[in-house]
Amino acid sequence: MNETIYEISFTGRLRIDAHSLNNEGTVGNVTEPRTIVLANGEKTDGISGEMLKHIHTEAVWQIVKEKKVFLCPACQILSPMKADGNKTVTEMKETKSALNEALKCAICDLHGFLVQQPTLSRKSTIEFGWAIALPSQFYRDIHVHTRVAAGEKEREKSAKEVSEQMIYNRPTRSGVYAFVSVFQPWRIGLNEIDYTYSIDDSARKNRYELVLEAYKAMIARIEGAMTTTRLPHFGEFEGAIATTKSATPVPVISPLVDGYIQQVKTIIGQQNVQEFSNFASFMQEIDKLKSAVPYKLGAP
Ligand SMILES: [Zn+2]
Repeated sequence: MNETIYEISFTGRLRIDAHSLNNEGTVGNVTEPRTIVLANGEKTDGISGEMLKHIHTEAVWQIVKEKKVFLCPACQILSPMKADGNKTVTEMKETKSALNEALKCAICDLHGFLVQQPTLSRKSTIEFGWAIALPSQFYRDIHVHTRVAAGEKEREKSAKEVSEQMIYNRPTRSGVYAFVSVFQPWRIGLNEIDYTYSIDDSARKNRYELVLEAYKAMIARIEGAMTTTRLPHFGEFEGAIATTKSATPVPVISPLVDGYIQQVKTIIGQQNVQEFSNFASFMQEIDKLKSAVPYKLGAP
């Protein structure tokens, strides 16, 4: 019999050099990097959970498109509307049936949604925290760049030319980032109004594998802002994948803390924690999880 998986946590330290993956915004011609303030007041660099979740969603979408799995009209085009853009759902009167209808879409089921009418919300089965740079291991620099205005080269050198040079400032950051994510296979296809599963076991298993594949895809190359000229240099990646097999929440201890893997092992047992030391071993450990099946509430 296949092993069942209730929850999985992914925690690790990921080194990224010379990137600008996401930013606070642009003020004038200066782009500000994201800053996180820790509990002790220390300031450090961060990559938002919103961005990481979006990358995972997009990875799911690409795989689903290839496999021709059913998606609602909004998710077909990767619209953030999700189920709220699905007329079959929004025209339903009864919330339980509307939710069952929405759960037919793999992305709506896995990544959650908010429907205004009838009022329905689904919490994602996949969660990401901020990736937070270890305060002692991050650096930032603002680089000044100039862009030459079109047609300028043809002109004679003049005072006017100087004013046509666009000057802008771009942050470049390097750091070792603490990465945290949780996946809840037990909730795949689960209608949380009447707590029954709206899809069959094999569809749940397919979605489970799909999420794991998407973790591999997102880590293979984290996409984000400014990658056209700031393609990140990914370095070391080490950490642990922890699983629970019965109805127990999987612990998530931040890799900001030394000894985080040991703590998880103490809590749920060494046999439930698989360490990885680089990108390849991370992916191998994920592949091993594919033979398991998602936990089912109330199953004997
Ligand atoms: Zn959808």
